[in-house]
Amino acid sequence: MDEFALIRRYFQPLQQPRQGTAEESVSVGIGDDCAVLNVPEGRQLVVSIDTLVEGTHFLADTPPEQLAWRLLGACVSDLAAMGATPSWLTLALTLPHADEAWVSAFSAALSEATQLYRIRLVGGDTTRGPLTLTAQVHGFVKTDTALLRSNAQIGDLICVTGTLGDSRAGLETLLTKSSSNTVVEYLRQRFYRPQPRISTGQLISAYASACIDISDGLLGDIQHIMDQSEVGAQINPEALPLSAEIQHFTDDKTAREWALSGGEDFELCFTVPPEQWLSLQAHLQNHDVQVTPVGAICEAKGLQLFSQGEWCAVAANGYKHF
Ligand code: ADP
Ligand code: MG
Repeated sequence: MDEFALIRRYFQPLQQPRQGTAEESVSVGIGDDCAVLNVPEGRQLVVSIDTLVEGTHFLADTPPEQLAWRLLGACVSDLAAMGATPSWLTLALTLPHADEAWVSAFSAALSEATQLYRIRLVGGDTTRGPLTLTAQVHGFVKTDTALLRSNAQIGDLICVTGTLGDSRAGLETLLTKSSSNTVVEYLRQRFYRPQPRISTGQLISAYASACIDISDGLLGDIQHIMDQSEVGAQINPEALPLSAEIQHFTDDKTAREWALSGGEDFELCFTVPPEQWLSLQAHLQNHDVQVTPVGAICEAKGLQLFSQGEWCAVAANGYKHF
């Protein structure tokens, strides 16, 4: 099957409008030199790109389904962290050979993920070489409402969504070849299938002062808010939300370490002025994602953790790529 037949068969169908997306947002999609896209009146375009390289970000022989979910989940999580609504996706695939079974499985999972996140594939590039997957996602925010990293204020509460450390625990189940049970499967799914907090990002955007998605671990990622907002932060490890599954899988100390610095949870960490907290809580009552305060922004620069009755300064130790 040649490149163009592959694109027509496995990628063109993913440009169909997803449930909840605007038909008219795509004037020209896959098949011409460029896509021609329409940004709605009063919205700004929010764009982010992510690459997965075999050997660096995933092991050889990782199933294509997992790569599709992981690639899109991580990318869409960046949109969620801005409070944006996903709209369009472009995809650059570098494949060692035209393995139709691989492309077919990848495309089926990507199709499912694009339905779930309501994002339309509008173009891409297909080349030969070492397996590398790049996704660029586009989304909309109402003009001047994007949630930034740079606006946290002294006294703001630091909150996180969902539960932390599960993805790191899921990785552990793979490294230690834990035998399957419901706890192990739950943790593995949290690792394989990040759930970008799209609706939570939109919900908090009217209240939060700053936001980031947790990809490298809470300790590393809060550092970006601290740097860009020029503030310090205090976090209480005892307050970190842990799933029942992680508590079942490991001891409390390890679970809290993973919650602090394990990567790839793709939850949101955001700051909210104390005077906004009550109204935000009221809005969160019927929301399906839990939000937990875990600390506060402070004037003293640097990061402090509460330990044995006192605040202790710590070096940020989020995972660094270089
Ligand atoms: P060009 O050579 O003009 O860049 P291509 O041959 O690379 O065009 O691509 C032809 C069309 O197919 C373009 O519309 C492009 O966006 C689309 N396309 C190529 N690869 C992919 C892919 N992996 N996913 C989605 N669309 C793709
Ligand atoms: Mg091209």
